[in-house]
Amino acid sequence: MQPRYCPECEAGEGVPHEPFCSKERCPFCGGQPASCGCIVTLLGLNDEGRQAVEEYEDDSVEPLRSIVARWDEALERKGRVPFGVEPAEGAHA
Ligand SMILES: [Zn+2]
Ligand SMILES: [Zn+2]
Repeated sequence: MQPRYCPECEAGEGVPHEPFCSKERCPFCGGQPASCGCIVTLLGLNDEGRQAVEEYEDDSVEPLRSIVARWDEALERKGRVPFGVEPAEGAHA
C-alpha cells in the first residue's frame, strides 16, 4: 500500500496533524477543530476569547496564546485524531 500524506500539513498515515491543520478532525465531535465550536464550548470562552479565535490574528499574543495552549492541552488529553484515522463511532454529538 502506498503511504498517504495529509495534503495540507504532510503528516503521514497515523501521525497527528500539525496544530490547526484544516484536515485534522476534532476528537470531540468529528468536525474540524478550527471551526466546529468545541474550542468555545469546551474552554468556556467569553465573547473576547471567541472573537480572538474567530479572527485568529496572532497566536503569539494574548488572549489567543493561552486559548490555543489550553485547546492544545484539551486535544492531547482527549487524544488527537491522526491522519488516515476516522474518529471513533459515537464521537458525533
Ligand atoms: Zn494535516
Ligand atoms: Zn469539535
